[in-house]
Amino acid sequence: MISTALLTQAVDLYIGLGSNLEDPLQQVRQALSELAELPHTELICHSQLYRSDPVGPADQPDFINAVAHLRSQLQPESLLDQLQALEQKHRRVRLQHWGPRTLDLDILLFADLQIHTARLCIPHSQLSVRSFVLYPLQEIAPTLQLPGGRSITELIAQCDRGTLAPVQV
Ligand code: ATP
Ligand code: CA
Ligand code: CA
Repeated sequence: MISTALLTQAVDLYIGLGSNLEDPLQQVRQALSELAELPHTELICHSQLYRSDPVGPADQPDFINAVAHLRSQLQPESLLDQLQALEQKHRRVRLQHWGPRTLDLDILLFADLQIHTARLCIPHSQLSVRSFVLYPLQEIAPTLQLPGGRSITELIAQCDRGTLAPVQV
């Protein structure tokens, strides 16, 4: 049984989704509807789906990425439990660091909290250097301010888009 420890009120947060195995488009679409079903949580909106080259080992398929805006009353650790349960449901197997995966769900931002524990680093440690996170995030939150004072606009200005492109449907 996964814990569902609650905050006193719901807060806004952002999740990064990624997949590059077993029909990645479908994995991400399915995960978006599963995020909408999480307890004490509402899916506010999500970005388009984007295609990008893999980070880390290059001998793996391209990634499909998206960012979702949730409003949730779950505590950060409970949210991570829920996300890891969804990854397991998608039969994620961890074989190689930054290796191929059916589904990766990262907490990018959680209200204006800054958390550094053994299990959680929020804002996500790689947020400011990943085009496949920053561009979808800017699409759904163009005026976002990060804890620490920087804006999404400033981060985007320092992050090359690379090969990232919206998926044409
Ligand atoms: P990266 O974190 O660089 O994107 P990854 O997503 O491949 O790499 P995982 O194997 O999915 O890494 O996760 C490893 C651990 O990262 C998880 O078990 C979790 O405890 C921890 N973690 C720390 N901060 C976060 C966060 N903000 N969101 C999700 N997991 C996190
Ligand atoms: Ca990740
Ligand atoms: Ca992860």
